[in-house]
Amino acid sequence: MAKPKNFNLRLLVQIFFFSLIALISVNKTLTAAGTGIPFLSAASLHALCPFGGVETFFTLLTTGLFVPKTQISAVILMGLVFLLALLFGPVFCGWVCPFGAFQEWVGKIGKRLFKKRYNQFIPAKLDRVLRYLRYGVLVWVLTVTAVSGALLFANLDPYHALFKFWTGTVALPALILLIVITIGSFFVERPWCKYACPYGALLGLFNKIRVFKIHRNTDTCVNCHKCSRICPMNIDVCRNETVTSLSCISCYECTSARNCPKAETLVVQPGRFDGNHGRRRVSPTVVAIVLLTVFIGGIFGSMVLGIWNTQTNNQGSGGKNKGVGQKNQVQIEEVSD
Ligand code: SF4
Ligand code: SF4
Repeated sequence: MAKPKNFNLRLLVQIFFFSLIALISVNKTLTAAGTGIPFLSAASLHALCPFGGVETFFTLLTTGLFVPKTQISAVILMGLVFLLALLFGPVFCGWVCPFGAFQEWVGKIGKRLFKKRYNQFIPAKLDRVLRYLRYGVLVWVLTVTAVSGALLFANLDPYHALFKFWTGTVALPALILLIVITIGSFFVERPWCKYACPYGALLGLFNKIRVFKIHRNTDTCVNCHKCSRICPMNIDVCRNETVTSLSCISCYECTSARNCPKAETLVVQPGRFDGNHGRRRVSPTVVAIVLLTVFIGGIFGSMVLGIWNTQTNNQGSGGKNKGVGQKNQVQIEEVSD
């Protein structure tokens, strides 16, 4: 049976991951009160965040310890996300990240309110300058985490604030940032992703080396600009033969039949564009199947191998670096849960 034109697989995947993280976070609160949901994880969100793996990586390499609140689970997720990014670009941002999905859903109200003006409020020159900000945030986060041995970014992280705001443990700056990003999302699509997200900055680099790229067939394209207008990251797809922008989040909205009126014009395939025969092309459905297989298979595989662990009370791999561990304990008090 043919797939309906308006079928939105990405939305389903986003709802799945958003609901999963929300449930786990609520379950952590319930478990603390002794009424946890059976068979559902109550892990710390930091242990389930692949960016936690990036943050702890330097400390892990140099001391054998995890930065408090992170765990090997975050490092495993980091590896899975990097593998997917190497294949398809930052699909984590476009399909999985619950905070990206949250901004998009708020943005749907903005689209209804402002119609064609939505996502066009920031002047192009200012936008170009602001896009460098997230690289500064990335360098700052990695530096302060490596130097302090603590997850200080959690005090600013709006993603963490969204899924913890009811606990009373979220730092005020993170709550303020969450409110600012939520309001901003009514006017600009994914403002956090575009201008401030350190993980988006890192994953965006994979757009330069990803195996499967988005190509535009200039023979069949009718230059209607619909792909450029639909792009949440304001990439001018219509003026590119191959999308290599650092901002692309691999949402594949531009390639969808919902948005490009000419079938087989925006295609995903490895290497150079090979004309119309399309032997090596993959559809967003294939990307979604690979994404879910890598994510779910990687987690279950590491469970079977006995290396999956989300218990963040054990902060070290041994006693050889007690000094670092003790130094961290002081800063744990200052970091929101
Ligand atoms: S270029 Fe296409 S895949 Fe990349 S962010 Fe824009 S719409 Fe999504
Ligand atoms: S939406 Fe499709 S046909 Fe229109 S400009 Fe983009 S690639 Fe060309």
